[in-house]
Amino acid sequence: MSDDDTAAAGDGSAANRMEGPDVIACEQCPELVESRSRIVDGVGPDDADLLLLGEAPGANEDEQGEPFVGRSGSILDEALRDAGLARDDVRITNCVRCRPPENRDPHTEELANCRGHLERELAVVDPKLVVTLGKVPSEHLLDRSIAVTKAAGDVVDVRLGGRGYRAVVSVHPAATLYDGSQRETFFETIARAAEIAGVGSGGDEDGGQSSLGQF
Ligand code: SF4
Repeated sequence: MSDDDTAAAGDGSAANRMEGPDVIACEQCPELVESRSRIVDGVGPDDADLLLLGEAPGANEDEQGEPFVGRSGSILDEALRDAGLARDDVRITNCVRCRPPENRDPHTEELANCRGHLERELAVVDPKLVVTLGKVPSEHLLDRSIAVTKAAGDVVDVRLGGRGYRAVVSVHPAATLYDGSQRETFFETIARAAEIAGVGSGGDEDGGQSSLGQF
């Protein structure tokens, strides 16, 4: 890792440091520093075409140090498989990287604190498409309130850190556990995302363009 790959992030202090897309040290959110057992960075290739964005680590993620494990992770893996993708083919990350106490939603200030880390990760990975998994990441990226069950599958252009990205709104995989009717919505959204990004079974075997016209 060269010096060029390291950067002060967040408040710019030496205590908040990134290497490539990963946060090496950060103590900007006192409550989360208290409740976390580790910083949960994104996983997957740092040049992935598809990046999946969740809200925050839960208990399983905090324990294993990886986003979307446990039941939500199994559903996500299943939807990816249906779309012809393995977990290792995509980048998976969260809006905040430290587990909130009692699994509460991250506060606005915590989302803002961690935004610089997300901006840098997105700049490094430069995905063709971002999928926002659930209400919090959708509203964080689109910067407006969203009814995700209605907006699921919508393709939008967003700006983060002065750069533009294409994104698809999705329900959270856990929504399929509480409401069976959301399963089809979630699986279809992941399949559409793969097609737009041109990966998995959504990829063009000739290496050509994805079927953006449909969206
Ligand atoms: S959530 Fe993000 S900004 Fe807050 S302490 Fe963790 S890494 Fe730092």
